[in-house]
Amino acid sequence: MTDTQTRHGAIYWLENCDDDLTRRPALAGDETVDVAILGGGFSGLWTAYFLLRANPGLSVAVIEREFCGYGASGRNGGWCSPRYPMLVDELEKHFGADAARATIRAQHAIVDDIGQICAEEAIDAHYTAGGMLSVARTVRQLAALKATYASYRRLGLAGDTRLLSAEESNGLINVSGVLGGMKTDSGASVHPARLVRGLARAVERRGGRIYEGTAVTGVRPGQPALLETGGGVVTARRAVVLAGEAYLSGIAAWHRQLLPMSSMIVATAPLDAATWDAIGWQDHESLSSGAYTKDYLTRTRDGRILFGSRGAPYLFGSHMPESALADPALYGPIIENLRAWFPVLHDVPITHAWGGYLGVPRDGMPSVHFDAARGLGNAFGYTGRGVATTALAGRALAGLIAGVPAYVPDLPMLRAPGPRWEIEPLRWIGVRYIQNAFARIDEADFRDGSVPFDARLAKTLAPI
Ligand SMILES: Cc1cc2nc3c(=O)[nH]c(=O)nc-3n(C[C@H](O)[C@H](O)[C@H](O)COP(=O)(O)OP(=O)(O)OC[C@H]3O[C@@H](n4cnc5c(N)ncnc54)[C@H](O)[C@@H]3O)c2cc1C
Repeated sequence: MTDTQTRHGAIYWLENCDDDLTRRPALAGDETVDVAILGGGFSGLWTAYFLLRANPGLSVAVIEREFCGYGASGRNGGWCSPRYPMLVDELEKHFGADAARATIRAQHAIVDDIGQICAEEAIDAHYTAGGMLSVARTVRQLAALKATYASYRRLGLAGDTRLLSAEESNGLINVSGVLGGMKTDSGASVHPARLVRGLARAVERRGGRIYEGTAVTGVRPGQPALLETGGGVVTARRAVVLAGEAYLSGIAAWHRQLLPMSSMIVATAPLDAATWDAIGWQDHESLSSGAYTKDYLTRTRDGRILFGSRGAPYLFGSHMPESALADPALYGPIIENLRAWFPVLHDVPITHAWGGYLGVPRDGMPSVHFDAARGLGNAFGYTGRGVATTALAGRALAGLIAGVPAYVPDLPMLRAPGPRWEIEPLRWIGVRYIQNAFARIDEADFRDGSVPFDARLAKTLAPI
């Protein structure tokens, strides 16, 4: 009944970003600049923004195949999160306790900085500092929440985080079947398309040039480095920057650097006051559970609930067609899950259903790097946590290129791109196995609390 009202492939944020999405003019002819950036998402635009902020004399060009915000940046869950792409335990295991602490503190700080910059640049990104609420809906999820909290405490990072009883958690947001929760005061939600489009305009106000509808077809590091496009060659005196995230898998030299994984979101129609009274959610927290298939929820300014979850099956050869994200069959389980969380939404229409591609590095750690000799910079690999991390990465990369030490933190993400993914068909076999195993782990957990025999193997193989 309600599903006939769902427009599959319609991206709620882009439809409601209050900006004209008509493409800016494409590159028409060769051009020489100081820095040429591939990608008009958060990574590319934050890098451009901080370059121009540090040194207004630089010439900076952003080359975008579609339009600014077309990729993950314009279609994500809107969590501007203090949680880093790599879990805190993993950070500690691989890089030590000090690096883990520094990373989480930097991530917390950048969330505040984004709010500050939105105010300074008059970007109305619906920035709402509501914090984060994770809820446990199974015994396993509750144990995992407690373990995460214990790690934060051990590392001295639990300052603004606390565990909640089921009652306390439901007092904030009334979710069905909750056994307990964890609230973190820092963290914000944003309207990502307003943020990315506003950022593009801030870059232009500071003198940056943006070419849309212009695909980079080749990258030639060197002195100078070049970006080749159908409309001309961009020569970069100082640096070319790769900020194409999942889509970089379409460029031969970078094909195995990042794995394109999809994630999908459904949006309800705006809810009426009685429904909001039943649900609560007055503080607009970014809401999640501990499911392996990742449930993430956002309350929008116009009173909708967005429910994000698992994506489409990985496609052989890292193909990432838009059409794979518009299949109605993929959204059925997400809508069912949303209604299990909030039974009060049983007949509320689902208006939008869309997906997007994010980039997963083989070892789970982002890379921010500038090789001055080759004139080549990059900022990528955030998995599903890039809204805040891209600003940290863009500022650091701008600092490396423009020589601004204050922009360059001492963090493990400042490193050359990590290991590449396996060749096909190994990649397809491994990733499909992990996707399938994670779905089975969640199903068994909800069914009777059992654990599939291969759960440990799947967790060991997964990069995050
Ligand atoms: C459905 C979904 C939900 C998510 N939810 C969250 C969330 O709630 N919180 C969070 O922190 N993170 C979330 N993420 C992740 C986050 O959105 C990304 O990490 C972040 O937006 C990455 O930004 P980016 O600029 O690096 O990449 P993108 O936004 O993907 O931008 C890359 C750009 O490069 C362009 N491009 C690619 N190739 C070329 C080329 N050859 N020539 C020219 N241009 C090119 C693309 O068109 C694109 O615009 C989510 C991601 C998805 C897909």
